[in-house]
Amino acid sequence: MTEHLLKILIVGDGDVGKSSFVHRYVNGQFNKTYKMTVGVDFSVKLLHWSDKEKVRLQLWDVAGQERFISMTRIYYKGALGCVMMFDVTSTSSFLNCRHWKQDLDNKAILPNGHSIPCILLANKCDLAQRVVSAESINRFSKANGFVAWMETSVKDNTNIGEAMRRLVQEILSV
Ligand code: GDP
Repeated sequence: MTEHLLKILIVGDGDVGKSSFVHRYVNGQFNKTYKMTVGVDFSVKLLHWSDKEKVRLQLWDVAGQERFISMTRIYYKGALGCVMMFDVTSTSSFLNCRHWKQDLDNKAILPNGHSIPCILLANKCDLAQRVVSAESINRFSKANGFVAWMETSVKDNTNIGEAMRRLVQEILSV
């Protein structure tokens, strides 16, 4: 049995649903009042990937960030993948993904010189007040080298496991 240890970063503006995402994925719950401690912290999730492989995910959440700030290299060190999240009801959270991606591409570099695989998640797709169109997300995702983008709802549990499987698949294929 092979066990892969993967450090995954969860980045994006404050309030887009990052802590809820981690909590949902790791504990299977959506709790409106749940809030992770402020600062960088990680949660662990073990996946039975195949008959021969286990994957231990370390999910590092930049909790407590209200807007984009350049992260320290310590945070990026050793990371093999990234989940970038915005809120489809917030244009600014989408526009700031440009800054988050630039910071990531500058600091999270694999030994082969490529930047780490990153999946873009358009969260809160359960809400009717959506302002960011699928077309603009698609364009942004392609232009900035994301592995893929997906609509998610942490609230309704839409595409959460799917998104993580897609990212892990990409990481293990490199
Ligand atoms: P963070 O600051 O990015 O970690 O965001 P939180 O996880 O604290 O979530 C911010 C708010 O959005 C909370 O009130 C959550 O309950 C809510 N939220 C998170 N995901 C969803 C979702 O998919 N749909 C809806 N409607 N609300 C969500």
